[in-house]
Amino acid sequence: MHQNPQHPAKPFDIIVVGAGIIGLATAYRAYKQGHNVMVIERNSRPTGASIQNFGHACFTGQADELQAMVAKSREGWISAAQDAGFWAAQPGTLIPATSDVEMSVLEQFANHRGQEQVTLLSPSEVEQRLGHQRLKPVGGALLPLDMRVNPREAAATLAQWLEAQGVTFQWNTTLRSTADGVVDTSRGQWEAQRVVLCPGVNLSYLLPDLAQAEGVRSCTLSMALVERPDHIASDFCMLTGTSLARYDGFSAMASVPELRQELQQREPELVECIANLMVTAIPEGLLVGDSHDYHDSPTPFISEETASLLQSKAAAYLGVDKLRVKQRWQGVYADSPSTNLVVHRPDAKTVVAVVASGIGMTLSFGLAEHILDQF
Ligand SMILES: Cc1cc2nc3c(=O)[nH]c(=O)nc-3n(C[C@H](O)[C@H](O)[C@H](O)COP(=O)(O)OP(=O)(O)OC[C@H]3O[C@@H](n4cnc5c(N)ncnc54)[C@H](O)[C@@H]3O)c2cc1C
Repeated sequence: MHQNPQHPAKPFDIIVVGAGIIGLATAYRAYKQGHNVMVIERNSRPTGASIQNFGHACFTGQADELQAMVAKSREGWISAAQDAGFWAAQPGTLIPATSDVEMSVLEQFANHRGQEQVTLLSPSEVEQRLGHQRLKPVGGALLPLDMRVNPREAAATLAQWLEAQGVTFQWNTTLRSTADGVVDTSRGQWEAQRVVLCPGVNLSYLLPDLAQAEGVRSCTLSMALVERPDHIASDFCMLTGTSLARYDGFSAMASVPELRQELQQREPELVECIANLMVTAIPEGLLVGDSHDYHDSPTPFISEETASLLQSKAAAYLGVDKLRVKQRWQGVYADSPSTNLVVHRPDAKTVVAVVASGIGMTLSFGLAEHILDQF
């Protein structure tokens, strides 16, 4: 059994497995509570869903039941960004409405949540925020409380900062199994009073029976980094009509069934690839996506048809004929048709936590608090 290098006679208070944003947020919260923390990660740096995404903390669009958790997450992102020194902006999320039905959903949502969360915009205000007049929106909304981070920076910088504060990181080390505070890894055993497993989509390999019971599968998404046109703001963040039909907060509104019918007629190709057409800006350019494909063993191949479709639809919103693609990738996250969140306690010293939907950046620091409250 390896010893805690900082207190050889004493086991760690908490071992966190997985240096994605859920594991790192948990390590951050535990460190801030004064605990002696170790993080075990099978890679040499974060490479999972937490760096593949839009860096969009979409607090407002989440279901009413999740609002308490996302408020804590928002506070956690602000605090971690200040401590670790990574970019976390609050430009708000722009949602241009391109039809009366989309505008009705936004109006209903504004009535439901109130002005602090949803600011309705006139067509000219949307054009001003888009930086062009080609889209001809009927109106739109701004969600001012949502936040943005750069996913290529945030997790890695947070890990470096935690390591500099004395949190022990055991990189290139794979967890094989754990029970009653003892973790068995590819580099031997460690012990802690509490163990938190945050393996993301790898839950299916680590704990296949739990993954099966919770319906956890992979969701693959077609993503691209494109050059940012000059008229698009450097902290730009946009959701569209497909997003209104997707996120639980919006989709609870009365006009969403009508919106779904409209999308089916107006944008059948987007509906076919289960698109959530959205764009966010990072220093390297604009992140454009996404489509959704669900499978327990996903295909590694990116459909050029789907990728081109998403880029041409995004180009129309951005007021350009074509976008110059710099990178493409297939993002993967854990999904379940039956739950957004798997929080399981196999024994008194162990918690397993997986976000089973595309909202892990949004929930992260709020979920971390919920995880630590389980003990
Ligand atoms: C394309 C895309 C777009 C998205 N957009 C958004 C968005 O805009 N907003 C939002 O809120 N969410 C978004 N998401 C979802 C979000 O990225 C995920 O929900 C979140 O990153 C999950 O974090 P995680 O820490 O659970 O997983 P991961 O980041 O995948 O981290 C899990 C870590 O555990 C490690 N691990 C696994 N098994 C072991 C083991 N046995 N031993 C050691 N280490 C192990 C892995 O190596 C990995 O580093 C998106 C996801 C994708 C892919």
